[in-house]
Amino acid sequence: MSDETRLRDRFAELGASLYDRGLTPGSSGNLSARLDDGFLLTPTNSCLGRLDPERVTKLDPQGRVVSGDQPSKESFLHLAMYRERPTSGAVVHLHSSHAVAVSVLDGIDPEQPLPPITAYYVMRIGRLKLLPYYAPGDIELADAVRSVAADHHAILLANHGPVVAATDIDSAVYAIEELEETAKLFLMLRGDKLRLLTAEQVADLVRRYPS
Ligand code: ZN
Repeated sequence: MSDETRLRDRFAELGASLYDRGLTPGSSGNLSARLDDGFLLTPTNSCLGRLDPERVTKLDPQGRVVSGDQPSKESFLHLAMYRERPTSGAVVHLHSSHAVAVSVLDGIDPEQPLPPITAYYVMRIGRLKLLPYYAPGDIELADAVRSVAADHHAILLANHGPVVAATDIDSAVYAIEELEETAKLFLMLRGDKLRLLTAEQVADLVRRYPS
């Protein structure tokens, strides 16, 4: 089985897992991965819970369709990440409820929309960046993502959802799940006095586990 075939099957497995656990509803959310000769991306109007591996869109290195169904309308988000992050091999974008809820909170710090609650959040996400709201498909959204993608592999789009890049598709899914769980914890703990990880503890994790 070729790497591309394996990856297509993995998209269907991971998509079903994310959808079945309620991490992205309806036809929202999209997965992509870099290939030697382009990219794979989930098609437009497809439900992550019922992906057909053979219909997953293949794009050439410039983002033009080579085969499969029409690509997600949010393909530009993925391509913006790949252009700025040559070492990233996969990107996941979800409309996951808790992360979206945090993105809507007024007065949240765009440089740190979620505090360092757990070590795994710091290790898998690190510096999350909140971008302002743009209409879906607005080309300014692609420009905004490109402007921060080199420094941030995890971005939260206000009133929309998270986008996370990683070396491979499994790592990107693990990371976005960590982001969603941290958003859930953060919302559970709002109003309580917290012992967050200290700046020293965060710096120690960054030293031990450089991204
Ligand atoms: Zn979206």
